[in-house]
Amino acid sequence: MTDRLVLVINCGSSSLKFALLSESDNKPLLSGLAERLGTAEGVMNWKAGEIREQVPIRDGRHSTAMSSLLPLIERFAHQPLVAVGHRIVHGGEHFTGASIINDEVIDAIQQASALAPLHNPAQLTGIDEAMKVFSDIPHIAIFDTAFHQSMPAHAYRYALPEYLYTEHGVRRYGFHGTSHRYVSSQASLLLGMQPDQGAWLTAHLGNGCSTCAILDGQSLDTSMGMTPLEGLVMGTRSGDVDPNLHSHLARTLGWDLDRIDHMLNRESGLLGLSGLSNDMRTLVAAREEGHDGATLAVDVFCYRLARSLAGLAVALPRIDGLIFTGGIGENSPLVRELTISHLALFGLNIDPAANATPPGNPARQIQAANSPAILVIPTDEERQITEECLELLDAKATQPVEQEA
Ligand code: AMP
Repeated sequence: MTDRLVLVINCGSSSLKFALLSESDNKPLLSGLAERLGTAEGVMNWKAGEIREQVPIRDGRHSTAMSSLLPLIERFAHQPLVAVGHRIVHGGEHFTGASIINDEVIDAIQQASALAPLHNPAQLTGIDEAMKVFSDIPHIAIFDTAFHQSMPAHAYRYALPEYLYTEHGVRRYGFHGTSHRYVSSQASLLLGMQPDQGAWLTAHLGNGCSTCAILDGQSLDTSMGMTPLEGLVMGTRSGDVDPNLHSHLARTLGWDLDRIDHMLNRESGLLGLSGLSNDMRTLVAAREEGHDGATLAVDVFCYRLARSLAGLAVALPRIDGLIFTGGIGENSPLVRELTISHLALFGLNIDPAANATPPGNPARQIQAANSPAILVIPTDEERQITEECLELLDAKATQPVEQEA
């Protein structure tokens, strides 16, 4: 089989992240990030193997960033691309998997914009610009929410009046689906199971954090909800708080909704608790120096994480393994150790030597003898997006051609 190439695009309101992946090679042939778009300081940094370069995007336009990609693709792609995969944050209830982008899919992404006003419109811009530049190949949407569409109603419904769900889509959707799916399938391979087999608890811990319960390749429950604010303590996001907090702050401090939203999304989490930083590396170092805020922030982060994992365990018939991933999950032995210390009830026990992060940070097991598996698996959302694009193209290629009536 030829070695097929996919360009993966993740477009934000002021950024454009891209990676060129081949079917056979784990490392991207080319990857990069255009930042500060929308300003005169727009800039694109890219690397391919040992080569690293910076290209100014002087007009700061997404369209200029996208067309600057074309000569790079021509230079580093050893054959024509077969697809462009677009990471889309919110697919609402419409999407349960990867979808070839057409007018109907664009409409549905637009409809889901009410649920992700910061993300979906920017990602539609990315689709529009990419379709102009890469006009003769399929464009495929991969949704952060799609993996969680297998959740049963008892996991995705809020205890709210029904019309808020049926008429306004108020329900739990979950996010980080691409990452949860990738690391759980890697865990199956690592433990010698069939891909998509096994009962897993996953913890994706980056700037955003979420947990997931997965059985045989299906998400059964996850910690994020209608928006990515629900659930765990994150870098600057609060995670779960009392739902009456909004009205309390409005009544007692006179805060409006924008002020409260900003506080919960940008001033809370690790940053709010520590008063120091949203970055776990800084907090781990400050905790070692005895900083009280950093100590509290790490303790709350790990306790809430353990509580979330323990809660999600009720979705599973057994636990084949607990998986840590994301910048914090992959790199912080302290967070893994503290979290597991709260989960003794499940027989989980960590091996301190295996828990120390080795150079290169490979996928590995870190449990002590007699403990269920505890795994550290570096996530690779671009690889998962590439695989889902190729699976979809293969499925389309083998579909019987519709007969005309
Ligand atoms: P991500 O969004 O997946 O890139 O993850 C970002 C988070 O990972 C930040 O909070 C970083 O501080 C954290 N992180 C990266 N490296 C380490 C490390 N060695 N120890 C602790 N946290 C880390």
